[in-house]
Amino acid sequence: MQIYKVGGAVRDRLLGKPVTDIDWVVVGATSEEMLAKGFRPVGADFPVFLHPKSGEEYALARTERKSGRGYGGFTFHASPEVTLEEDLIRRDLTINAMAEDDQQNLTDPYHGRRDLEARLLRHVSPAFAEDPLRVLRVARFAARYAALGFTVAPETMALMRQLSESGELQALTAERSWKEISRALMEDQPQVFIEVLRACDALKVLMPEVDALFGVPQPEAHHPEIDTGLHTLSVLEQSALHKQPLTVRWACLLHDLGKGLTPEEDWPRHIAHEHKGLKLIKAVNERFKAPKDCQELALLVGEYHTHGHRALELKPSTLLELLQSFDVYRRPQRFEEFIAACEMDARGRKGLEQRNYPQADYLRGAATAARSVAVQPLLEKGFKGPELGEAIKRERLKALKAYKEAASV
Ligand code: ATP
Ligand code: MG
Repeated sequence: MQIYKVGGAVRDRLLGKPVTDIDWVVVGATSEEMLAKGFRPVGADFPVFLHPKSGEEYALARTERKSGRGYGGFTFHASPEVTLEEDLIRRDLTINAMAEDDQQNLTDPYHGRRDLEARLLRHVSPAFAEDPLRVLRVARFAARYAALGFTVAPETMALMRQLSESGELQALTAERSWKEISRALMEDQPQVFIEVLRACDALKVLMPEVDALFGVPQPEAHHPEIDTGLHTLSVLEQSALHKQPLTVRWACLLHDLGKGLTPEEDWPRHIAHEHKGLKLIKAVNERFKAPKDCQELALLVGEYHTHGHRALELKPSTLLELLQSFDVYRRPQRFEEFIAACEMDARGRKGLEQRNYPQADYLRGAATAARSVAVQPLLEKGFKGPELGEAIKRERLKALKAYKEAASV
């Protein structure tokens, strides 16, 4: 049997990037031989094994044939006769379809190296169209390598557009889609992921709520970039520049969905877009079965981001309601993430990227003030049950009034 490094490890070494996980392909072996060497099988009918020591993935060379819709509709054929070239041709991009032996000899039948040098994301064969997930994967790689100057080859873009129009994208499971979306959002230029999906018409299939934001104007005085879609891309870009976690990035992407619902005659104003957007945010959350923390933060940011921007003008009672909605007493981290998303929203405006956001510290201070109210003295005064709750609220309100007064001197 011959063993080769494949995929990302070869690509990233040639790009001079750090290689994190290594995928291997094994040519000329049977499952029985792998098991005899101590490899552990990963799936029941999938010829992939884990190395007994390193835990890295070793896949038997295989060919694939499409036999139905979606990813379930694939038949695999793995046998010792399958050649390295046959295995490589089933892969998505030429830059992902190179193999390397232990002497670093490159096998590159589909010219991945040439495309690496030309900074092109190009599909390997027409079989690309057999798995709609590849549309998301290409958009994700575009987001990752945008800084190096990579773009999607026009003929690959055309195939991606075909896939978007064929209805195949709808056959993707929430789990497979979310895995790509969440990884793409964590790349250095996540806005490129959305741009590429939009350019191939996949965005209006996957997230029509986000697609609808393009072409929707906002008041120029607050939003020099005017277009809501462009604003959303900038907010996402800021979230990556500021190294925000996935929860914040997801909330940034979805925060303004309500603006897509404003009747044209009301443009460029978007009255009550925060509340109107909630059902759209919920729909996108559920479509991709986003993790609970992402879902929660997106809804809270959608509902309250303009409160964040107006923080310094909020009445103490409104401030208190905001803090209660976030349960800042038990969930301080979530409130921090809300503040971060608001700041990214404010910075995601053309020409205002560097402007200070004093609301952030003001909100933090308010949370600290409300949290500083001690319950013990109230218990000692004999408050209990609902009255205790009311008494705590009164004390917190007092603390916030004092905080607001102190802050304005
Ligand atoms: P990363 O750095 O994100 O891990 P990678 O290229 O290693 O990038 P993996 O998802 O680990 O990506 O997959 C390893 C290889 O398997 C890819 O390089 C590609 O050749 C192939 N591959 C993975 N998923 C697909 C797919 N859906 N369609 C075609 N080829 C795929
Ligand atoms: Mg990999």
